Amino acid sequence: MRSKIAAGNWKMNKTYSEGMELVEALKNGPQAGGDDWVILGTPAIHLKDAVTATQDMPRMKVAAQNCHYEASGAFTGELSVSMLQSIGVQCVILGHSERRQYFKETDEVIAKKVKAVIDGGLTPIFCCGEPLHIREEGWHVRFVKGQLEKGIFGLSAEDFSKLVIAYEPIWAIGTGVTASTEQAQEMHGELRKLIADKYGAEMADATSILYGGSVKPSNAAALFSQPDVDGGLVGGASLKAETFIPIIEAMNDQA
Ligand code: PEP
Repeated sequence: MRSKIAAGNWKMNKTYSEGMELVEALKNGPQAGGDDWVILGTPAIHLKDAVTATQDMPRMKVAAQNCHYEASGAFTGELSVSMLQSIGVQCVILGHSERRQYFKETDEVIAKKVKAVIDGGLTPIFCCGEPLHIREEGWHVRFVKGQLEKGIFGLSAEDFSKLVIAYEPIWAIGTGVTASTEQAQEMHGELRKLIADKYGAEMADATSILYGGSVKPSNAAALFSQPDVDGGLVGGASLKAETFIPIIEAMNDQA
């Protein structure tokens, strides 16, 4: 069953108290219904208390923004899947372009993380997306196909059925420039075709594919109305209840 999802990625923003205030404000706002989800991708310092604060909110989940693929060991500064699982975190954002760019995460490392997260019983939100020059050169679909092939197409069908994909063109992240509804739909449709070729039509139909890149209250409804766009991964506009709530409402309106 394909879910609609409004996922926030707070990145490296918010002190502890600022973050918990936002969690409370979102708890008091509109909730996702049916099989749909609101996901809060908080910094590590908020994870445990965000899980506790939302445990009576049946359609809210908490996501980490990264994890290591090893189970434990000498990896200073890192968090393992079992650590996240032990405090009730349900999802992990993986392969975000900022992790790829600033922390040099390769497709191979991301693939290991995806597998570790699934094996640990959590949901990976696998991010993919092309830089501007590749879109301008016209081979964005081939580029993103390569990210899928290296990052997630090595998974068994059973494992693949447990992940969420976020298409995030790098040129639209944090820039204020949003992909047009046509650009988003084109890529999401291509992604679904690639999944169908690899895992079959039923899997393609059941996979949630989120759009990310300057989603805002003013464009969320148009983006989410596209047939292959199942909601959004939202950075800047997820940092305030007054901008994230209308995005949750736009997702709910499509349900
Ligand atoms: C993101 O961080 O994944 C993102 C899409 O950011 P923004 O919405 O700010 O472009």
